[in-house]
Amino acid sequence: MQYLSSRGSCPSVSAAKAIVNGIAPDGGLYIPEQVPTMGQGEWLQWANLSYQERSQSILKRFLTDFTPTEIAACINYAYNEKNFDHAQIAPLLEVSPGFHVLELWHGPTSAFKDMALQILPHLLTTSMKKTSEDNEIIILVATSGDTGKAALEGFKNVAGTRIVVFFPAEGVSQVQRLQMVTQLGDNVNVAGVVGNFDDAQNGVKRIFADQQFSEVLAQKRLKMSSANSINWGRLLPQMVYYFSAYLDLLQKERLASGETVNIVVPTGNFGNILAAFYARRMGLPVKRLICATNRNSILADFINSGIYDRNRPFYKTISPSMDILISSNLERLLAEVSGHDFAQVQNWMSQLVGSGRYEVPLELRERIQEVFWSDCCTDEQTIACIRRVWEKHNYLIDTHTAAAWHVYERYQEQSGDKSPAIIASTASPFKFGSSVAEAILPEKERKGQDEFTLIKRLSEWTGIGVPEGIRDLQERPVLHKTTTKPADMQYALAQFLNL
Ligand SMILES: *Cc1c(COP(=O)(O)O)cnc(C)c1O
Repeated sequence: MQYLSSRGSCPSVSAAKAIVNGIAPDGGLYIPEQVPTMGQGEWLQWANLSYQERSQSILKRFLTDFTPTEIAACINYAYNEKNFDHAQIAPLLEVSPGFHVLELWHGPTSAFKDMALQILPHLLTTSMKKTSEDNEIIILVATSGDTGKAALEGFKNVAGTRIVVFFPAEGVSQVQRLQMVTQLGDNVNVAGVVGNFDDAQNGVKRIFADQQFSEVLAQKRLKMSSANSINWGRLLPQMVYYFSAYLDLLQKERLASGETVNIVVPTGNFGNILAAFYARRMGLPVKRLICATNRNSILADFINSGIYDRNRPFYKTISPSMDILISSNLERLLAEVSGHDFAQVQNWMSQLVGSGRYEVPLELRERIQEVFWSDCCTDEQTIACIRRVWEKHNYLIDTHTAAAWHVYERYQEQSGDKSPAIIASTASPFKFGSSVAEAILPEKERKGQDEFTLIKRLSEWTGIGVPEGIRDLQERPVLHKTTTKPADMQYALAQFLNL
């Protein structure tokens, strides 16, 4: 199968090439030429398969230029009991009748990005071999917190790659900083940037744009690449767990074959929910995709009005991984629902760059609304939801998952639809321990306490163990002590690479 650019101005490429390129040369995102569809007779038989076997069955339909052995090797490197603390990898739990929580945070960094970033490095290195790309790949990341750590864990010690992460020295939590500066691995570097996330991100963009620097690297057989969520190799592995969740429901006899479910996703960059959209296109019986946002409600507004408008204030919320004003993966959805009208997509994206706004025609909006339903959740509603779910069901959810839960309750009230729901739980509650503690612990237990103490108290109070990746962070040696001014990031990178 070939992949096309969502902006239509460059030739189609193989899956391997799409993964190596990341972004298409015309600035578009790669989408499959045609989404492979599967009859239910085919995949309903997978109920007794393991997560790894289910992955193989999905991935091979998209990675048609990979051999079955290559795909299996990637899967085995990623989804094993060394990297994941749950044998089922992405277990599904019925927390309240019809509310099935899909726990996507059993990987090394306790958040859902591990589901893709554990396998992406292997898909990438395999793709490099297939496309005769023999340079060493330098993965450059600017992170506001979680992606950097997930990328470090994914790429550490992967032959043929190096990873360099820049984080804003003043802009990440204590836990996030320690997670990164204690990172193990022979091919990893981490540096704090004196500034905020924008400073770090702009610095990385400048490095990518510096032709001269790229040529210096090329002479040393080095090539820069990114691991961000627009890479097809990150989106594809995310389709698997939606099939897997449905199959788990069948296996537990919570569903009849072919019965429809709703899927609820706390959404930021639109990657996770887009994977569910593709799963539905492949034939998964999904009635509605529920897109939950926080106070940064740009996606909810778009789905409800057809107008995407980033001219609005940016809010810092307690679900920071959804604090986003540009949801890059939405471009793929537009390409799909417009029936590959790439000229139109190109036009909307130019408007977004120019005026920060575009509007899709009514007919297209209606097509989106047939599948998607969306609403937002404030910080207060998030806290109240965490408390309610804990008190009623004795189950602890993080701030992002709570936004999804809250929005699904809203959906049920407004639609009367009582279909069972798969709720994507995107982080362990301990990953956002301070906010979860605020929802659960009495004030005297938490007043004036730092993040680490709060995590400990939360664990004692609930009787739930802290995940290994967060547990003993304070005792680990700090291995990365570099800090750099934004203007000196390229110099720091050159030093890391011994140029
Ligand atoms: C990244 C992230 C999200 C948002 O996922 P998108 O694919 O960007 O929509 C939600 N929750 C958590 C915890 C995340 O890390």
